Amino acid sequence: MYALPVAGIELGGTKCVLTLAHGPDTILAQETVPTEAPEDTLSALAAVLARWWADTGFAALGIASFGPVCLDPAKAQFGHILTTSKPGWSGTDVARRLVAPYAVPMAFDTDVNGAALAEMRWGAGQGLRDFAYVTVGTGVGVGLVVNGLPTRGIGHCEMGHIRVPRLPGDTAPSGCPFHDDCIEGLASGTGIRAALGDQPVASVGPEHPVWDRVASAVALLCHTMVATTGPQRIAIGGGVLQRQPHLLARIDPLLRASIAGYLEVPQAPYVVAPALGDQAGPLGPIAMALQALAAGAA
Ligand code: ADP
Ligand code: ZN
Repeated sequence: MYALPVAGIELGGTKCVLTLAHGPDTILAQETVPTEAPEDTLSALAAVLARWWADTGFAALGIASFGPVCLDPAKAQFGHILTTSKPGWSGTDVARRLVAPYAVPMAFDTDVNGAALAEMRWGAGQGLRDFAYVTVGTGVGVGLVVNGLPTRGIGHCEMGHIRVPRLPGDTAPSGCPFHDDCIEGLASGTGIRAALGDQPVASVGPEHPVWDRVASAVALLCHTMVATTGPQRIAIGGGVLQRQPHLLARIDPLLRASIAGYLEVPQAPYVVAPALGDQAGPLGPIAMALQALAAGAA
């Protein structure tokens, strides 16, 4: 363990969680700031960091953010939020300005890539090289780790917007304004609300057909991953899975039926719940900061 803790910020759509920790068993402080106008939110985050810096200091800073974000350090936009429907946040620099007062290593990534790294370090992905963390909440996010690293590319993983076949007879609206049949449009909280119309989600029982649509779309997401980078395990969390506990157990058999024996899917438990629970998100930037520290020391 390093003498100094590291600091992490998880920037979420509704709230941001700051964590000062060595790891999950040594969380020294955790504070929450509401996500409102960028200037208000960022100055509140900066104030907490300044206080922690004065109190104990920190050896590195991790920042894991809702997207879309620029992850390419060669670009001027690195560490910025890109075009988003969140009012005021498009083009906001979140990473460089928060680390600017401190001469410490900084790591910046998506919230789901951070959660994937935290699960690999301390949770459901320990000892694995290839792993996926999926969250089914307001949207569908995927942190896909290949050969120990979260995928990069022209942007970042947006597997929630992969288009999948709808179940026969499912003509209900999609929750995605861009795609009529992407996983997020069919399975996210937004997609569920679009399908249910006026019916409140809390009022529909586990036998309602909307859950067939959700389970099918998430199983097809898993099929896509099995057939592309082949995670050794897939952890699925988020508000929809948490509030509908019958869903998780349905996904593994649907995945196996969909693969239909063509590829060997690792034995169950293959599709699992995140072991870190609610802390997978907040601990993401802590895992990232520890990685940045180790890389700097190497
Ligand atoms: P976020 O994705 O915004 O971080 P959560 O992961 O907590 O938040 O997920 C919130 C989503 O959960 C909302 O989109 C909401 O529609 C959905 N949700 C709320 N209640 C239920 C429920 N009883 N069953 C299924 N989904 C629900
Ligand atoms: Zn979409």
